[in-house]
Amino acid sequence: MTETMKGQIVVTASQPVTDTQWQAILKRDRNADGRFIYGVITTGIFCRPSCPARRPNVENVRIFPDGTAALQAGFRPCRRCNPLSVAGSPVTATVTALCRHIEHSHSLPTLEELATQCGWSRYHLQRQFKAITGLTPREYALAVRRRRLCGNLQRHSSILRAMEDAGMESSSQLYTQGKQMLGMLPGQYRSRGAGITIRFAMAECSLGSLLVAETAQGICAISLGDEPEPLLLEFQARFAGADLLPPDPAFDDKVARVIALMEDPHRNLSLPLDIRGTVFQQRVWQALQQIPPGTTLSYQELAEKIGQPAAARAVASACAANTLAVAIPCHRIVRRDGSLSGYRWGVERKRALLEREHEESECEKKQRR
Ligand SMILES: [Zn+2]
Repeated sequence: MTETMKGQIVVTASQPVTDTQWQAILKRDRNADGRFIYGVITTGIFCRPSCPARRPNVENVRIFPDGTAALQAGFRPCRRCNPLSVAGSPVTATVTALCRHIEHSHSLPTLEELATQCGWSRYHLQRQFKAITGLTPREYALAVRRRRLCGNLQRHSSILRAMEDAGMESSSQLYTQGKQMLGMLPGQYRSRGAGITIRFAMAECSLGSLLVAETAQGICAISLGDEPEPLLLEFQARFAGADLLPPDPAFDDKVARVIALMEDPHRNLSLPLDIRGTVFQQRVWQALQQIPPGTTLSYQELAEKIGQPAAARAVASACAANTLAVAIPCHRIVRRDGSLSGYRWGVERKRALLEREHEESECEKKQRR
């Protein structure tokens, strides 16, 4: 082993063959292709483990990590197994097979599962997959699923069916992704929404993907994101116990009003809201709804407004717990120095909303003059 200038350790000398490697050569194991190549000192030729040529004597075999190392050691590539070509190589074939496997799996396959499938180590799999497709297996699987979900959403009238068909109903996914996204165990969510019926829909607006949901009491969720999928997952986890229904014409109408609100945050949504929170949160959210469009307050000012000047921190948490984007205008709360601070649905969206409100206000002022 030597150290290169970049600090990577590379094997420059050949290695003696291990038992596993020798077994792979004897079996002409295609799964070993890409893991190592072997040179035969009596012929000066190097091969992939799966090479169909006559097997060498074990004492003449030298192992190299790849073709480049073998070339550097003075070996020539075999013409039968063509160990230097990438296109059409067994490695490519394996990665292609993995891609098909991912495309046909209903759920997101784990790296472990894929490794078992092709007989590679997880590390080797990740590396080869990325080298050929430019994506990690997970990124590839997410891209496949997103594509599938978009297609399904156009085909199915039922969003639930579309989600199911895209492989999004499994509780294990809710468990891992839900936990990541919500910072809570889905078990704590299981009771959420139990016994209630929620209608929901996805839409696109100028601020990105939009999810709107309602109970019999009123609108219970409005969220924004770059992609529909995380919004659906978060929503599903939050209301894991509820009966979820696809939109009907009456609800489509309400969704259109929410989209209009996003385009013009100035207008009044004039839809009942189903606001669930602690008494304190509800007070904060009510106070938020009284901030006129085009104006902003600091957390401190809002705390003073509800008569609890010492509770600026708790006010900030209540703002962060808001699940009704724009309808409860927590985007109108900024830091005392005027900087935007965070926003559950992305600080860029907060900026865009405030700009829209500001422009609208200027317009109104001019009209009044
Ligand atoms: Zn060969």
